Amino acid sequence: MKKLDKPVPPGGTIGIIGGGQLGRMLSLAASALGLKTCIYNDAPDAPAFQVTQNALAAPYDDLNMLTGFAEVCDAVTFEFENLPAHAIAHLAQRVPVRPGAHALAMTQDRLTEKTFVEKLGLKTAPFFDVTSAEQARAAFAKLNGKGILKTRRFGYDGKGQAKVSSPDDAAAAFESFKGAPSILEGFVDFSYEVSVVAARGEGGAFAAYDPPHNEHENHILRRSTVPSQLTSAQVTEAKAIARKIADALDYVGVLAVELFVGKDGTLLVNEIAPRVHNSGHWTIEACQCSQFEQHIRAVAGWPLGDPVRHADAVMENIIGAEADAWEALAKGGALHLYGKKEARPGRKMGHVTRLKGKQP
Ligand code: AMP
Repeated sequence: MKKLDKPVPPGGTIGIIGGGQLGRMLSLAASALGLKTCIYNDAPDAPAFQVTQNALAAPYDDLNMLTGFAEVCDAVTFEFENLPAHAIAHLAQRVPVRPGAHALAMTQDRLTEKTFVEKLGLKTAPFFDVTSAEQARAAFAKLNGKGILKTRRFGYDGKGQAKVSSPDDAAAAFESFKGAPSILEGFVDFSYEVSVVAARGEGGAFAAYDPPHNEHENHILRRSTVPSQLTSAQVTEAKAIARKIADALDYVGVLAVELFVGKDGTLLVNEIAPRVHNSGHWTIEACQCSQFEQHIRAVAGWPLGDPVRHADAVMENIIGAEADAWEALAKGGALHLYGKKEARPGRKMGHVTRLKGKQP
């Protein structure tokens, strides 16, 4: 595994795998630090290709192309976690990859991830391994009447998830996923959801942003608001959870930990995203150092930036045809459009952040 011996200096190249909006905003942040990017995406019309001079379009398991990619990069990161393990291993032999293969392996699979979180002594919803319709029924019997079946891999924005409220439901949901290995989770009757977006640098430096309150619609993040209603003790606890996870993974870069806030105030870990996160977009305007700059700093071996928040903020996603109203949206805040041609339903087209007055 290649290590970064010294920080990538200005003028160096950060490789980013994945050319969506996260790759695009990472590339813009790298550019502000005087770093170049090379973006690798499996299709040619990637939003991030518009903001980099070095674009490679090839399948994510094309080892020859990955070799060429590694040759032009000083360090490599990614904007999405579903890369084939052998492709990451191939890259990691040639160039420092951050966060590393271990962090990716632990977070690509919901069963591995939840088991890891539980072993750290952190709380999660009850969960059970499901590899057959019978197991789905048996697992359901251990819940208190309501659950969510989730495929272990490749789920996002509610895809590969089904709410179930009977053993038959659980079995049918498993069949509907065509037998893909899954977990059955107990349904958590939470008060609201928050996330901790945090960075860990080389040598264990840690910097967490203020946790936003996240509201979803149709399984897609609609809005993130800071500050949330968490008490300061809960904020401290939430950040400590993220730190425990980042330390245990020997993580380098930005990660997000999605949490459910129970009716009794308990914080339960729902999911870990080993990358910059939609619920951290407000940091571009409201913090001294955005999550994107922070991630690039960590990946390049630079000192972490200050995550301090200087304003209250609300970030709203612009989804599908909502982007047609770009002129009106441009009037009311900091508008970010991702350069996507087609506004398909459910597609994240941009976001707008509105600051709500300065912090005391
Ligand atoms: P996930 O893909 O695991 O992040 O789930 C997407 C969304 O579904 C979460 O943000 C919650 O709103 C909801 N959800 C997921 N798991 C559960 C659960 N065990 N109990 C209640 N709601 C859940």
